[in-house]
Amino acid sequence: MIFERTKYKYDGEIFFGVIPENKMPFWTIPTNNFYLSSYVCPECGRLMVKTVFSVDFTFSTVDGSIAVPRIFVCGKCKTLHIPSPGYKLSRNNGYYYKAKNDKEFEDIIIKLDLVGSRKGRQNTLYNETNITWY
Ligand SMILES: [Zn+2]
Repeated sequence: MIFERTKYKYDGEIFFGVIPENKMPFWTIPTNNFYLSSYVCPECGRLMVKTVFSVDFTFSTVDGSIAVPRIFVCGKCKTLHIPSPGYKLSRNNGYYYKAKNDKEFEDIIIKLDLVGSRKGRQNTLYNETNITWY
């Protein structure tokens, strides 16, 4: 699995209350450590799910190996999206991978579910310079 440089623009959306049907994440694989993210899939517009690695997890990309704190996934498009280290996904400078088929996608997700968690991490956006602190 080699991630490509992303060609997408990522948008976050936060819904208060009910998530519209057409934005609901599509997810059929039984997992423990993937949960709702605030990013919508750039291909289908549904909310993606994510998992957080307690220690940065290393992926292979066209630019070499990179270690990242979290990954975002669309179960409908079977795509995986990772930010560049130290950046938010919405910087649009990360990487993506589209699974070749359902089986490959499921295998990847089950593997990542074992090392992922639902616990957020802080101080992972060290390359972001214009963060507004509240
Ligand atoms: Zn999608």
